Amino acid sequence: MIKLIPFPNIIKEEKGTINFSNYKILIEKKYQNAVKNLNNELSNRLKIDDNANEYEFSFVFSKEIKEEAYIIYMDKEATSVLASGEKGFYYATRTLSQLFNLKKKGQINKITSKIYYIEDKPRFAFRSFMLDESRHFFGCEEVKKIISVLSDLKINTLHWHLSDDQGFRIDFPNFPKLKEIASKRLKTKINSQENDDWDNNEYQRCYSCDQILDIVKYAKEKYVEIIPEIDMPGHTSAIVSAYPILHCFDKQYEVRGDFGVFKEIMCPGKDTTYDFAKKLVDELCKLFSNSKYIHIGGDEVNHENYEKCPNCQKKMKELNLDNTIKLQAHFSNEIAKHIMDNYNKKVIMWHDGVFDDTDNRVIMQYWNYKMELDKIDYINQGRKTIYSPCSQFYFNDPYGELPIVRTYNRGIHLTSLKRNAYKNILGMECCLWSEWVENNNILEFQIMPRLMAFSEASWTNTINHDFTNFVEIVENMEEFYNYYNLVRAPKKIYLAKGNEYRNKISKLYRGTEKEIEYNLAYKKKVIIDK
Ligand SMILES: [Zn+2]
Repeated sequence: MIKLIPFPNIIKEEKGTINFSNYKILIEKKYQNAVKNLNNELSNRLKIDDNANEYEFSFVFSKEIKEEAYIIYMDKEATSVLASGEKGFYYATRTLSQLFNLKKKGQINKITSKIYYIEDKPRFAFRSFMLDESRHFFGCEEVKKIISVLSDLKINTLHWHLSDDQGFRIDFPNFPKLKEIASKRLKTKINSQENDDWDNNEYQRCYSCDQILDIVKYAKEKYVEIIPEIDMPGHTSAIVSAYPILHCFDKQYEVRGDFGVFKEIMCPGKDTTYDFAKKLVDELCKLFSNSKYIHIGGDEVNHENYEKCPNCQKKMKELNLDNTIKLQAHFSNEIAKHIMDNYNKKVIMWHDGVFDDTDNRVIMQYWNYKMELDKIDYINQGRKTIYSPCSQFYFNDPYGELPIVRTYNRGIHLTSLKRNAYKNILGMECCLWSEWVENNNILEFQIMPRLMAFSEASWTNTINHDFTNFVEIVENMEEFYNYYNLVRAPKKIYLAKGNEYRNKISKLYRGTEKEIEYNLAYKKKVIIDK
């Protein structure tokens, strides 16, 4: 068993072994950040013998190699890495770190390894994890921990869902009410959607801009890009509670403590809403100045108020739009264009907010069980798309509903997608919606080891996928979990057969009996047996 996740696309074992108790790293100065982690891990793990020969790691630029790809030549005296830039060098170090078992705690006198030749490159350029911090909030340290894990697993993007009906999570000084009102809810629905159980504690959480900048900086050092999301015009009950003027009928509501698709959202009929939304994304684009992408949501927009709202109806008449779908598309286009034209960033929207009239530069994110044929046609016609079907990649689902084998094994499944349109799929994203994810332990339980399965699904070519081998490796990642102090689901849970408990509606959000037991334990922060 070669213990590597994601498994490299070409790996050959060669004769001999490596062992060393001193080392040096050779790399051009401008790429140095790429070897910082490796250097730290080596110096933590190895009790360095100054008299021993220095084992040499040399990182060599090669323009023929694609971005993120790398080649590793190992032999007894030296390991050479070829890549065309920092990202390739960095991912090579993540592979070496696993091969040399550098995450293991404690110091040793010698580092040993078999000798390999590795040639590796990602299956998709876009490999992303989405974290919802509106429904529940996990905090700076947890987000940094997740970024480190993503980075080790060669997942290069964190999509950060920072606004929804249940709370707005950025403190923008120019929008004081977003912190004062929109970041706070008075109670939270617990246990499941079906019963009427509530946690009556006030829940107020928010990141300061400084905290966000600190996280962005941390992510950059680990080659993880952040995509911030402010979902609109739907899922904006929290924003509208803070600024009722954005509501179709100027009504004052409370920030939601329950979950669903609500009608008390932004009005796309009022000019005030456009002004507000543009100013808000201005703040977002400035805060996330290095982000290539901005996500503006667009999903699950309830049109009930729009049908009756005089402003919405007036706007439709003015613009000669014959239905509220077109009004929604107009709103999203205005915001998307504002971002694309003023900040030179790309805009992503959930697929159910993308219509015939949607600006063709907008990237579509597919999330549903079954993709509507007209949306697949958009991909055939050239629309760039991110693939994140809930049936494969929604990690908030219990393992009993979504066993890990489905995350690992299913390729791109879109009926009637033309062969030459596959190139429009930029990559994959897995998502954690946090309605029922009340604390960091439950969060980790839901995503580990699923992130490992996702890592391999999005990095390794399907021809090199081997689920049995993968499970064996996952079961031997103890030192990785310990290093990060990560909670994870045990094998008997993550290999659960799907659908077994589907009919027990009240347990839909909690999964199997065993998962409920685990969740309860994690709630109390007691880690029970594996
Ligand atoms: Zn309206």
